[in-house]
Amino acid sequence: MRKAALGNPQNTIEILRKYQFTFQKKFGQNFLIDTHVLDKIIRSAKITKDDLVLEIGPGIGTMTQYLAEAARRVIAVEIDKNLIPILSDTLREYDNVKVINEDILKVDVRKLAEEENEGKPVKVVANLPYYITTPIIMGLFESHVPVDSITVMVQKEVAQRMQTGPGNKDYGALSLAVQYYAEPYIVANVPPNCFMPRPKVGSAVIRLTRHDSPPVQVKDERLLFDIIRASFNQRRKTLANGLRNSGSLDIPREIIVEAIEQLGKGAEVRGESLTLEEFARLSNYIEEKIQ
Ligand code: SAM
Repeated sequence: MRKAALGNPQNTIEILRKYQFTFQKKFGQNFLIDTHVLDKIIRSAKITKDDLVLEIGPGIGTMTQYLAEAARRVIAVEIDKNLIPILSDTLREYDNVKVINEDILKVDVRKLAEEENEGKPVKVVANLPYYITTPIIMGLFESHVPVDSITVMVQKEVAQRMQTGPGNKDYGALSLAVQYYAEPYIVANVPPNCFMPRPKVGSAVIRLTRHDSPPVQVKDERLLFDIIRASFNQRRKTLANGLRNSGSLDIPREIIVEAIEQLGKGAEVRGESLTLEEFARLSNYIEEKIQ
């Protein structure tokens, strides 16, 4: 079955009927049925015939067909075993696709890139299952898997959180973590009627292009992220209280006060007003003092 065949809702329904497929809510199954959205995802992911693409959750293979035509090779990881025979059918004309029936959170993507792409960076493209968006994206970044870019459909609010900066209500630990590793760009907003079944929330396609090196230099990445998490754990508290009350950090009170002072901030400052650069300075100061 060739490209664009499944992006048409009638063909999707036909395949679902043929295999008597029932959607599993627990797997976040909302299949794309809009060819314009599919074209846009593929274009914005900037895939070439040199690329190895990792697709997370191919579903019935709708986007996989597009990816197979654009890329050198596609590895598609799907958790639902009921979709595997369907994928064998819808992808039978493509010899550059490998489907793996596994939970993406259990896949060693670094090993996959080693074996399939000589360790070179892969491009990740997916209409993600929304219940595990953050662990998937942070897992790819934090484990330092060779990844060039991640172009994904996510819940609209999550896309906004990834892209926003200080002073915005959506700003938080996810914004800072994503922006430490990558340059986010929201490609398109996508309404519920582009999916089957329709999700209850709005969606957006976001492209995260990995930085060659992080935009700020920190001596201890883990400390930076512990500090960021502690600062946003208690949103209405001051930064000083957030850091003091964190279970994962043990920083003496006077060092916290000094660290905030050297940022040129008052004692009442909240984490949500700090930029990534300020968090980096805070982290480096604390690291030096607690050594
Ligand atoms: N790519 C398809 C499309 O756009 O029509 C399906 C997208 S659907 C939003 C998410 C897909 O991810 C489903 O096929 C679901 O079964 C799969 N999935 C859910 N959890 C997964 C996991 N932990 N690992 C791999 N795939 C998963």
